[in-house]
Amino acid sequence: MTINHIAVIGAGTMGNGIAHICALAGHDVTLIDVNQDRLDQGLATIEKNLARQVSKEKITEAEQVETLARITCATDLSADTAEADLVIEAATENPTIKAEIFRALDKATKPDAILASNTSSISITQIAADTERPAQVIGMHFFNPVPVMKLVEIVRGLETSDQTFQTIYDLSEKLGKTPVEVNDYAGFVSNRILMPMINEAIYCVMEGVAEPKDIDTVMQLGMAHPMGPLTLADFIGLDVCLSIMEVLHRELGDSKYRPCPLLRKMVVAGRLGRKSGRGFYDYSQS
Ligand code: NAD
Repeated sequence: MTINHIAVIGAGTMGNGIAHICALAGHDVTLIDVNQDRLDQGLATIEKNLARQVSKEKITEAEQVETLARITCATDLSADTAEADLVIEAATENPTIKAEIFRALDKATKPDAILASNTSSISITQIAADTERPAQVIGMHFFNPVPVMKLVEIVRGLETSDQTFQTIYDLSEKLGKTPVEVNDYAGFVSNRILMPMINEAIYCVMEGVAEPKDIDTVMQLGMAHPMGPLTLADFIGLDVCLSIMEVLHRELGDSKYRPCPLLRKMVVAGRLGRKSGRGFYDYSQS
């Protein structure tokens, strides 16, 4: 199947990045969010990131102008997805919101359109079950910041067809990404490995094994990680880390995924990392 027109649902952190790379690769893109304010913010981020790519000589000024011209903003999910060959959903990580969106998309889009979700933790098989076309539902798990990070996990739900998988795999390469095939299990590969590592680093803090900065230094210098796990946790948001650990624990049922009590305590106290000004480190001055 040929993918020309792509609709992206959600103009937030991930959605604006996804719209950016799809338009840059030559696709007509409809960017959809709940109101004009969110769309304006998303578009402003795309403009800023395209300008940065021009200043770094990664794209030309002509490409910048053409890319922006390919993006149309819209707020009516039902009316504005009718022409799409592919919809990539990057709305808020909430199972009820996603279920509503996919039920609406199933009615609004062409029968052969593919519906993809950028969810980090919700089952693709579950999302697909809310539609009448589970063979055409798939996960496209991008990484933040989308225009920079090369990886995309292509997540096959139980019913995802080989044709849908191949179309999305080929498209991901065309978008300049390195796709990896993953089956639908909680956390896919990325969060299944990353989050328990972060959780274990938090246990090390709780048990007084070492100070946060020393734990990060061990992982940076000893394991050649570009960023220590606690710095990374603050960057991702401790509330996001907790909710992904809860999904792993609930879905996989193994006690090795239990969220660290200190992680729970910090989230309850509002120490969420960079976004709240304090997590394992203090960002109040930055
Ligand atoms: P975000 O909060 O920055 O943006 C979500 C956007 O979705 C908001 O602008 C919101 O208004 C919009 N939205 C909510 N309901 C909507 C609806 N019914 N119709 C249209 N738009 C709607 O969130 P984000 O960080 O961009 O995450 C989006 C998705 O990407 C989530 O599923 C998340 O798990 C996943 N994800 C996030 C990251 C990350 O690092 N932030 C990485 C990989 C995957």
